Amino acid sequence: MRASHIMQERVLRAPNLQVHWNTVTEEILGEEGVEGVRVANVLTGETEILPVTGFFVAIGHKPNTELFSDWITMDENKYIKATPGRSFTNVEGVFVCGDAQDHIYRQAVTAAGTGCMAALDAERYLSEKGII
Ligand SMILES: Cc1cc2nc3c(=O)[nH]c(=O)nc-3n(C[C@H](O)[C@H](O)[C@H](O)COP(=O)(O)OP(=O)(O)OC[C@H]3O[C@@H](n4cnc5c(N)ncnc54)[C@H](O)[C@@H]3O)c2cc1C
Repeated sequence: MRASHIMQERVLRAPNLQVHWNTVTEEILGEEGVEGVRVANVLTGETEILPVTGFFVAIGHKPNTELFSDWITMDENKYIKATPGRSFTNVEGVFVCGDAQDHIYRQAVTAAGTGCMAALDAERYLSEKGII
């Protein structure tokens, strides 16, 4: 488990949760909806079908910013650093917004708000340069 220790304890203490260790999902089964999941144990190679009717995917917390890391300053978790209250990065003419720079809120509305900030900053930058 890669979750924080406190989250691990919450899961392990929950009476209605069963942890399948060293297990990966191979296929979600069903015709009209979810009827089961085929899982495989990565240590033994054994597969089994879990008779479940729902499947939830947890999406990671790693921002997809790696391709910029040679140029743009990031924090230790690879979130792009913006000038506080603005969308400026360390590179002139490059602006950042949304989840790529937000490790706290990570919400659609905050992404839209910072997106608007970045768009305005970009427009002003281009205008000052006489490009638009
Ligand atoms: C399961 C889930 C539930 C959520 N529920 C809510 C909610 O209820 N309310 C809420 O406010 N927020 C919610 N969020 C958060 C919200 O979706 C995000 O905060 C928001 O989408 C961030 O917007 P963004 O534009 O920064 O990034 P994204 O919406 O992630 O957009 C980034 C885009 O960049 C593209 N991209 C990535 N890499 C590359 C590349 N190399 N080249 C070109 N394109 C690339 C991606 O395909 C994507 O289209 C939820 C998020 C998840 C995952």
